[in-house]
Amino acid sequence: MHFATLASGSSGNAILVGEGERGFLVDCGISAKRLVGNLAILNVPPEQIEGIIVTHEHIDHIKGIGVLARKLKIPILATAGLWEEIRQAAGPLKDEQKIIIPAEVSLAGLDIKLFPTSHDSRESYGLKITRQTAGHKRLSLGIATDSGTVTQAMHEHLRGCDALVVEANHDEEKLWQGRYPWPLKRRIAGIYGHLENGQIAEGLLSWIGENTQRVVLAHLSEENNTPEAALTAVLRALRGSRIAKENPELRLRVAPRHTPHELIYLREE
Ligand SMILES: [Zn+2]
Ligand SMILES: [Zn+2]
Repeated sequence: MHFATLASGSSGNAILVGEGERGFLVDCGISAKRLVGNLAILNVPPEQIEGIIVTHEHIDHIKGIGVLARKLKIPILATAGLWEEIRQAAGPLKDEQKIIIPAEVSLAGLDIKLFPTSHDSRESYGLKITRQTAGHKRLSLGIATDSGTVTQAMHEHLRGCDALVVEANHDEEKLWQGRYPWPLKRRIAGIYGHLENGQIAEGLLSWIGENTQRVVLAHLSEENNTPEAALTAVLRALRGSRIAKENPELRLRVAPRHTPHELIYLREE
């Protein structure tokens, strides 16, 4: 199983997840043109993309879904509630491109489970994506951004994943001292807003297992965070922890805002 964020942050989010020559997108919050360009940077042919799963209806997650679905002739997969919110933005689509999904679905040979995050949208989901191929080790990737708190469901699904893409949206001090208007600061810091570096650092401390190979910090605020601040908060929490001793191979990185990071292939052993 492989993955890469293609864009990350309030200017647009998209994640590529795949297995072999097949793959799908989690969100497409950038233009279809940019999305295809970012796939090209990774040498991934757009024909490999079999669908777009939508986590929630905010524009930074759905901006390019309709155009991309038409261009690649692929379906958009979303829950019934989210379809009501995204239908208009997605524009005209063939019936077979509008797929209503339950909380568990399979796509591109991978099993996907949706679980709720805490966010100010109609519905909002994190994903646990599992590869279970006979004769191969089971591998799992946990994805969760856009949540004001670390939810019980996040604890349940993210613990022990082989890789994690999680939100480190803001540095609390930077947010409160920054120039955002007061109501927006309250929204971001609230329980239906976005995760702060310290919150995700604490979550990671209980989710990272001996098998966890990679952690990608995503959806960083351009205004209220820096890659250094996010990494420092997580490294500070991990330093001296039991898991840091048990898993010295763990690699941590920050998702770039406008470009993909390298395609990460999860090892089987
Ligand atoms: Zn959102
Ligand atoms: Zn977002």
